[in-house]
Amino acid sequence: MANKKPAQKKEKTEKHAAFLEERRFVPQASGPSTPVLAIGAVGALALGLGVYGRFISEPAHDWAFLPLVGGAGLAAGALFFGDRALPVRVGDAGVAVERGSDVSRVPWCAMKAVEFEGTELVIRGTEAELRFSRAAHPLAVAWIIAEGTRRLPKLMNLKPSAVDGLPKPSEGDAPLTRVEDVQVAGRACANTGRVVSYEGDARLCKNCGALYHRESVPKTCSVCSAPLGSRAVSV
Ligand SMILES: [Zn+2]
Repeated sequence: MANKKPAQKKEKTEKHAAFLEERRFVPQASGPSTPVLAIGAVGALALGLGVYGRFISEPAHDWAFLPLVGGAGLAAGALFFGDRALPVRVGDAGVAVERGSDVSRVPWCAMKAVEFEGTELVIRGTEAELRFSRAAHPLAVAWIIAEGTRRLPKLMNLKPSAVDGLPKPSEGDAPLTRVEDVQVAGRACANTGRVVSYEGDARLCKNCGALYHRESVPKTCSVCSAPLGSRAVSV
């Protein structure tokens, strides 16, 4: 009997947006580490001593000025700078960390390895290194491992047990949003080495973020071997 479904078009048209997308993860509230707690405690003690010596004791003592200022500085530093985990983005453009208005991004194609160092997931890039605490970013870490394994499995220097205790990524974890701030000008075409100086000439592999000049897009990505051609996206 002939095939029941001859030449039936694929019903599941592959859905791939014509632009780069990513998910954003905010850090989980986690308590400060022991060193930060210790610094904060010393600061609070010194501050208390300073307040007593300067404002409560009669007469006021000049020596109290130093613990007053130093203690306030230490306590404020521990509060504002200690262990601040930053929002993380994971998607077509790689992995990025938001530092205020700046974004440090490592595309998948620029990663050398993804591995654990203690409780931190480390992304070693050709130009930058990113680190994520499992405690502060369990969801982002789980997504980085899942996406990296799907996109460029050779990068993932991880044991199967690495995902033990991590949440299972699901579509509802964070919405996909368009990547607006990917840097393309000044990067070299992965096919020809030609530097792309105009953003409109850039085309990107949606799987690994490799960049090509629009006139030199290969049929398959030379970095990750994913089908490319007309699937390459502009920014
Ligand atoms: Zn690619």
